[in-house]
Amino acid sequence: MKVFTSDHYTIDLPEGHRFPMRKYRMIREALVERGIVHGNELFEAPLAEREDLILAHSERYVDGVFTGTLSALEQRRIGFPWTPELVTRSRATVGGCLAASYAALQDGVSGNLAGGTHHAMHDSGEGYCVFNDIAVTILRFFQESRIQRAAIIDLDVHQGNGNSDILGGRDDVTIFSMHGAKNYPFRKVPSTIDVDLPDGTRDEEYLQILRTYLPRVLDEQPDMVWYQCGVDPLEADTLGRLSLSYEGLRERDRLVLHACSKRGIPVMLALGGGYADPIEQTILAQCGTYEVVREIYGQS
Ligand SMILES: [Zn+2]
Repeated sequence: MKVFTSDHYTIDLPEGHRFPMRKYRMIREALVERGIVHGNELFEAPLAEREDLILAHSERYVDGVFTGTLSALEQRRIGFPWTPELVTRSRATVGGCLAASYAALQDGVSGNLAGGTHHAMHDSGEGYCVFNDIAVTILRFFQESRIQRAAIIDLDVHQGNGNSDILGGRDDVTIFSMHGAKNYPFRKVPSTIDVDLPDGTRDEEYLQILRTYLPRVLDEQPDMVWYQCGVDPLEADTLGRLSLSYEGLRERDRLVLHACSKRGIPVMLALGGGYADPIEQTILAQCGTYEVVREIYGQS
């Protein structure tokens, strides 16, 4: 399995900023220390080019990010101050998704230890998302005729409004999002299938709903699945508002990956959100996802 990393590109955040930048390095280290991912399976994410990014985003927006000329309001909506490092990091997030997705086509499964930046829209970014990694990749794959149909399974606790903004009008992309009804984003952009969950939703109810919808998504016969496996539905998450346990999250991942593997559909895993305090609980949950990958796909 190939797993792409970009944690060597960091963003300097102001003191007290709530975004847990260090989690990216911590997850990579934890995966290797625990023997879940081997050092020789890790690859540095390449940087996505402007021509990739404008498949999903307006040229105005991409150039605004590249040159640091977005308006103050636009920059504030993203949630990170502009720096040249932010541009590089954001390009690596998308580059990692692209590279991992080519690997998934070949190997059946792959991961990017970043991304799932599903709030980035065609002409704007928000919610810590600059460029939309999955949307760029899917549009690149269509352009290169690598796939005819795509599916996004987005189980991050926040709705993927950017995915829907960019890809929502297409009948060759199935977007499935299960998320907290009362959580950010407060203006949700409709996906193909949206499931709004009440605050405090627990394992049993969550998994029951997932079991119901998963076959409907896969019956659309996507050539590849992009799985946004954010672990912010975890009970310990400070932004999540749901109450899933570690075992509940593992069962969630097992259901998705087993169903894809059984049908022979390649899957690419995008890291998504996780904001537990302490952050170690998020790392533990993300390791759980990759343990399930090993359980289903073996050591190949
Ligand atoms: Zn999230």
